[in-house]
Amino acid sequence: MTAPGADPSLGDLSRAELGELLDGEPAYRLDQVWDGLYRQRRPLSELTNVPKSLRQAIGELLPPALTLVRTQSADRGTTTKHLWSLRDGHLVESVLMRYRNRMTLCISSQAGCAMACSFCATGQMGFDRNLSLGEIVEQVLGTLQEAGPDDRAARGRAINSGAARGRAINIVFMGMGEPLANYDAVWAAVERFHGDMGIGARHITVSTVGVIPGIERLAAEALPVNLAVSLHAANDRLRNRIAPINRTYPLRDLARSLADYRRAKRRRISLEWAMIGGVNDSDRDAAELAAYARPLAAHVNLIPLNPTPGYGHQPSPAGRIEQFAAELSSHGVNATVRQNRGTSIDAACGQLRADKLVSVRKDGRGARSRAER
Ligand code: SF4
Repeated sequence: MTAPGADPSLGDLSRAELGELLDGEPAYRLDQVWDGLYRQRRPLSELTNVPKSLRQAIGELLPPALTLVRTQSADRGTTTKHLWSLRDGHLVESVLMRYRNRMTLCISSQAGCAMACSFCATGQMGFDRNLSLGEIVEQVLGTLQEAGPDDRAARGRAINSGAARGRAINIVFMGMGEPLANYDAVWAAVERFHGDMGIGARHITVSTVGVIPGIERLAAEALPVNLAVSLHAANDRLRNRIAPINRTYPLRDLARSLADYRRAKRRRISLEWAMIGGVNDSDRDAAELAAYARPLAAHVNLIPLNPTPGYGHQPSPAGRIEQFAAELSSHGVNATVRQNRGTSIDAACGQLRADKLVSVRKDGRGARSRAER
């Protein structure tokens, strides 16, 4: 489950595989390393109960999959975006959003994305490759390890990384990429988060643009994770334009698979709707969405479009969004208007990476973008 042709990182190894690697060490050594990494969420270098020579040997054999390139903060320090470089130079991002009693980590599952949603910066860049299990897991571990000092700076009071770890953690696969197009690595990561890090299935959300075979596989898994669907249009004509995957998996088929998922997992489905001014924000759009959401008992999240240079539309005005939510409500559908966290740091899906690639291209150095090949 490593990237094609790549050497594994520590995050790629299962507990059993790490145990094989530690063959010859005292039996408790495996617990020390595994619990240190996944329960205490500390970097290998900080596991001081493990001999330094052993930590060094593990680190040389299984070097990190990610290197932190840049961190940006917004919303008075409560939103932090991390740009990571993979070993082959591709760039991915993750976003940490802090709330009073919880934190939400939005992570990437692919470098780029093949789904080509018209409004999405990642979709505009095209697909590079799937992320490995280790690359997904390290986004979470690396972000949590960064969280302590960030909190201290943002809140102006002493809060150590242990306290930050004590908050409820939600993990959402809503960063770059279509998670269900990289199913095996994503599901292995879900199991790692749940089984080894102790994050409950109800705190893990897989977001899809509507890849039906992946939804069917999810429905057959034992863990009932939350399912979010990037819908953005509730008629096929418009959705074919906004989310071209709709031509393969049209709305009616998608609704059937979502109903099956809901029945199998007893989890509320959420429908994500980017509010795009003059495109999908009319009362008629709301009525179509309500007709789609109601039989699924789905909750709707309305998210003001985060504008990107490659898409010539703006977010709906705040008043229109409120009216749209009221229209949904009048049709018996609950909706939440999501605060668009991190707009000032370009926290739209994939946009930080786009900026970085532009600057890399200008410099003539660093990672290749798809456009360069
Ligand atoms: S919205 Fe999601 S599925 Fe669509 S192109 Fe962007 S990353 Fe891919």
